[in-house]
Amino acid sequence: MSDYYEVLGLARGASQEEIKKAYRKSALKYHPDRNPGDSQAEKKFKEISEAYEVLSDEKKRQIYDQYGADALRGGGMGGGPGGPGGFSSMEEALRTFMGAFGGGGGGMGSGGDSIFDSFFGFDSGEGESAAQQGASKKMNLTISFDEAMKGVEKEVLLNNYVHCSTCDGRGAKTASGIKKCSRCRGSGQVHQSRGFFSMTSVCPQCYGKGKVVSDPCGDCHGSGRVKKKEPLNIKIPAGIDTGMRLRMAGHGDVGEQGGPPGDLYIFISVEPHSIFQREGDDVIVELPVGFSEAALGCKKELPTPLGNTCRITIPEGTQHGKVLRVKSEGAPNVHGHGKGDLLIKIIVETPVGLTEKQKELLREFGETEGDHNSPRKRSFFDKLKVFFSL
Ligand SMILES: [Zn+2]
Ligand SMILES: [Zn+2]
Repeated sequence: MSDYYEVLGLARGASQEEIKKAYRKSALKYHPDRNPGDSQAEKKFKEISEAYEVLSDEKKRQIYDQYGADALRGGGMGGGPGGPGGFSSMEEALRTFMGAFGGGGGGMGSGGDSIFDSFFGFDSGEGESAAQQGASKKMNLTISFDEAMKGVEKEVLLNNYVHCSTCDGRGAKTASGIKKCSRCRGSGQVHQSRGFFSMTSVCPQCYGKGKVVSDPCGDCHGSGRVKKKEPLNIKIPAGIDTGMRLRMAGHGDVGEQGGPPGDLYIFISVEPHSIFQREGDDVIVELPVGFSEAALGCKKELPTPLGNTCRITIPEGTQHGKVLRVKSEGAPNVHGHGKGDLLIKIIVETPVGLTEKQKELLREFGETEGDHNSPRKRSFFDKLKVFFSL
C-alpha cells in the first residue's frame, strides 16, 4: 500500500486546503468520465479517493499519521475506507468525489451535467478571468440489440454553438475592440465589504467575463459564437448496454468569446431482443422443450447473440428452470475484458391439445410411474405426512 501523502503528491504537513486542491487536480485527471475503459486510471482514481477520504478527515488523518492505514481498517473506526485493500468499488470512490465537491446524487442521472462541468470552471477567479467553458450537452441514442453486440458507428446531427469564423471567436470586429472590464479590472469578480464580512460576487458590468466588447461582430453580436448544424460520427463499442453513456470530449457548445467547448454525453438505450435478454455481460435465453424431450434428453441447436450457432445437449431427466451455461457466448465486455456467458434456461412445457390416443398412452404411462420417478414429489409428500400424523 502506497503512502497517502505520496499518492496525492503532498508533504506530510499539508493543510486541508492543499489536500483538497491536490485531490481535485488528480481526481479530474483520473475521473472515470474522462478515462472510459482505462483500468489504470480507474485504479489511480480509487487510490487518490481513498487517500483523500482519510487525509481530509483530521481524526482519521491523525490515526493514519500515528499508526498507518491498517489502524483505520479494523472496523471499529466507523466510516474508514472499505475492507482490507482500501477502496474496492468505484462507487465508494465516486461517493468520496461527490462528497468533496458537492453536487447531488451520483453520475449524470437527472440533469447532472452541471455537477461535473462546474469543476472545470473551478479555477477561474484567480487573477484574470479565464474564458468560460461552453455548456455540455446530452443526447439519447437508441440502437438495436445486434448493434449493441457487435458495435456500430452512428451519425448524429449536432446543433451546437461553434466559434464565429467572422471574428475568430473573439466577439469583436477587431482585436482592439475587446477591453479589460473597468469595473473588475479583468478578474470578473467584485468584492464588497460590509462590516466584518467581505463578499465576492460576479461583476455586474461584464457578467464575470472580465472583458467588454466595444465593437461587436455583426454575425455573432459579440458572443463570439454561432449555432451550426454539423454531423458527428460516433463509434459505439461492442457490448454497450442500456443506461451506459459515452462522453464525446469537446463536442458540446463552445464558450462565449473563445471559451473552450463543453462535452457531449450520449445516453444509450438498447432495443429489447425477441429472445435474448442481457444481464450484465451474460445473455439469457429461455428455451422451451417438450416434457418427453426433457425426460429422455435431446440435442438442440441455438443461435448465439453474436450470430454463431451452438449445439447443446439437454441431459436425460432435465428439470424445469435448469440453466445451462455456454462459456463466452454472451455479450462482449464493453471495456474489452472478454465476454460473458450465454445462459440457457430450460422451460419444460406441459403438452396441451392431446388426442385421445395420446391421452391413452399417457394414462398407460402414468400407471407405470413410481415414487422413484419423481423424487421431489415424493420428498414433498413425505414432509406433508408429518403434519397429518400430529
Ligand atoms: Zn463574430
Ligand atoms: Zn467586470
